[in-house]
Amino acid sequence: MITDCCGWSALAGETRQLSELRQLQVADIAIVGAGFTGLAAARRYAELRPESRVLLIDAKSIGQGASARNSGFAVANESPGHSQLQTAQGLASYQTMNRLDHAGVSELRRLIEAHDLPCQWEDTGSIHAAHDPRNFDKLHHHVATFQKMGVDARLLEADSLRDRLGTGFYKLGVESRGGALLQPAMLVKGLLENLPPNVECFENTPVQCVDRTNNGWTLSLPNGSVQADQVIVAVNAFFPRLGFKSMRVFPLALTASLTRPLTAQEESEINHAPSWGILSPQSLGATMRLTKDRRILIRNTGEYRPSGISPALLAERKKQHVAGLKRRFKFIDESAIAYSWSGTICISRNSKPVFEESAPGLFLCGGYNASGVSRGTIMGRLVSDLALGKPSSLLNDALSLKKPNLIPPRPFFDLMAKGKLHFERSAALTER
Ligand SMILES: Cc1cc2nc3c(=O)[nH]c(=O)nc-3n(C[C@H](O)[C@H](O)[C@H](O)COP(=O)(O)OP(=O)(O)OC[C@H]3O[C@@H](n4cnc5c(N)ncnc54)[C@H](O)[C@@H]3O)c2cc1C
Repeated sequence: MITDCCGWSALAGETRQLSELRQLQVADIAIVGAGFTGLAAARRYAELRPESRVLLIDAKSIGQGASARNSGFAVANESPGHSQLQTAQGLASYQTMNRLDHAGVSELRRLIEAHDLPCQWEDTGSIHAAHDPRNFDKLHHHVATFQKMGVDARLLEADSLRDRLGTGFYKLGVESRGGALLQPAMLVKGLLENLPPNVECFENTPVQCVDRTNNGWTLSLPNGSVQADQVIVAVNAFFPRLGFKSMRVFPLALTASLTRPLTAQEESEINHAPSWGILSPQSLGATMRLTKDRRILIRNTGEYRPSGISPALLAERKKQHVAGLKRRFKFIDESAIAYSWSGTICISRNSKPVFEESAPGLFLCGGYNASGVSRGTIMGRLVSDLALGKPSSLLNDALSLKKPNLIPPRPFFDLMAKGKLHFERSAALTER
């Protein structure tokens, strides 16, 4: 039986266990969900109001959610979609999103330096790369758009990609700077351990309900409750389960595998290539990393499964990871895989996040598709600015973004999502 074990978390070392929140607690603010968004919101609120009591609450062990389970790209430049950039409004919105993402990367860089957080951070940017010539148009569009936006980006032909990556699989690529690569579970652990002293963290405490009462807001918990003047809900893919945004966002289950460190023989096969991160121009193509600690990561599945990934399904997906690795590195077989896991991202149809005060004192923040490392960090910070009435041009940027588009009700949506993903999987077949 395969265990759903996130390799990044297993390698990040012991995390201090936190207690469950019990009995009645009274606070200035309660933040629900302790991923990148909740951590950033808690830090910012506590810094701006050092006298306040800030509660940060997670349903599971902190550091076990998507924020620890991702591929570790701190994205600065969103992949530019063709249709989105056809209009002046689309272009402006793309630029706004990139300003926010850049601010998210800068904020992470600042925190990592300030607290000396070990998280294998590398300012290497990323490479969008394709194997199939049918995807080259997208890459030409990427590089042209990046350069038009002033992003440091260049095309890489097949030979330089082989030299740079240690595999001849990719035939055209676009290298862009501004973003970073990192070990996500180490980063979450470091951010958690260095929160301001007036943040109290609780884990294994699933919030069951968020209700308006005479005393502000009340959170119902399995063994207690919280009364708070303000609440930030930062549960990402779990918004609908708490009764929020079910007609705007939906979960998408991804799976990934991480190898053991490469052997000396394998290192020579890839010519001791320095670490890299590859993104696909196809949304369901493979994301790959050669990590700083000399392992290879692959994430090449994405599916609409609101109930999550079972162990049997994860075993199937692991086979797809091995096949994807073998296409790129002939020397790898199943025995090289040390960890396989699943995680859930929060998708909106138009790729716009949830960022709003949905009722006086109740704030919702999340839903970044697969770009939540930097975006969650900045949006989480800004949602606390919104809660405390602290204006800035970045906050205006966040508020100016379009809202997530409506999705049809279930079961129509289930059929539509499965059909669309089937189409995207087929389009990405040669890049998986
Ligand atoms: C395999 C994979 C690869 C990815 N790769 C990348 C990448 O390379 N770069 C990138 O930027 N993004 C990537 N992502 C997406 C990224 O991980 C997310 O966008 C990001 O984690 C969102 O952060 P968040 O804090 O908003 O939400 P999450 O990290 O999902 O945190 C939400 C938290 O809320 C908690 N919660 C849920 N319900 C409740 C409740 N009722 N009560 C209390 N707590 C609750 C959860 O336990 C969880 O800890 C990837 C995701 C996956 C799964």
